[in-house]
Amino acid sequence: MKFKIVSRGDERSNKLKATMKQYLIDFDLVYAKEDPDLVISVGGDGTFLEAFHRYAHRLESTAFIGVHTGHLGFYADWVPDEVEKLIIEIAKTPFQTVEYPLLEVIIRAKTGGTEDRYLALNEAMIKTADGSSVVFDVEIKGEHFETFRGDGICISTPSGSTAYNKALGGAILHPSLEAIQITENASINNRIFRTIGSPLILPKHHTCFLKPMVDSSFLIQIDHFTKNYQNVKSIQCRVAQERVRFARFKQFPFWNRVRDSFVAEEDR
Ligand code: NAP
Repeated sequence: MKFKIVSRGDERSNKLKATMKQYLIDFDLVYAKEDPDLVISVGGDGTFLEAFHRYAHRLESTAFIGVHTGHLGFYADWVPDEVEKLIIEIAKTPFQTVEYPLLEVIIRAKTGGTEDRYLALNEAMIKTADGSSVVFDVEIKGEHFETFRGDGICISTPSGSTAYNKALGGAILHPSLEAIQITENASINNRIFRTIGSPLILPKHHTCFLKPMVDSSFLIQIDHFTKNYQNVKSIQCRVAQERVRFARFKQFPFWNRVRDSFVAEEDR
């Protein structure tokens, strides 16, 4: 089996990466940058996002696992003390996997017929480049839903619902649900502009279009990276056909991760 380790780059993560790499090579696994079967991220959830995007072009043949060298992560849920146990489990291949849904975002230009497609593991956040309000017609399943005016709109995956989405008052969705969630960032609500105000959860195959009403320049943040777009005709969002696969060597139910990250006391 081929593997690759992506480190956050700090001393602790680099050391752990070197140790894991040597152990796995000793077990006759092959270190492969281009076509790994297993990608191990060492760092935090941010490192995991980076690892995911590095190999997002070959999701069908890649499984991911995260070891955290900081606080408990949602994607990075193994601790450094468990690494020897993890290595032995990995060496016993084949391993079990679980799959989570992803968000597909397609940005189409007003002129030139160009489009860019992205997959997001957490979310897409759309804001204006100059800090002014975004004004969008929001279309859901081919019907006009509302005209949004405000700081921005966040469209998240179920596994990303504990990230930016949560800070915007969105619900936490179990990743077994094939859905995306739309949350508002400071919508303007008065006699002229009116939005639903609540987060919306769309099932698979319900596509959402954001169509700019005024400015067509945006900052579009996909997980950990931001792109500046001009000349935008529409931003299309839906549940992606592709899914992310996590290698599973132990039970760590999603709700336990939510509890341990947001509710449990430090010493539990
Ligand atoms: P960052 O601004 O350095 O860190 C954002 C924080 O979000 C980190 O603590 C990260 O955990 C955590 N995080 C990432 N994915 C998560 C998830 N699915 N559930 C719970 N927490 C999660 O940015 P970054 O490390 O490059 O990560 C980019 C992500 O930051 C974006 O996808 C967005 O969700 C999030 N973000 C959140 C806010 C907010 O909550 N107001 C604002 C901007 C961005 P680690 O420390 O383990 O890496």
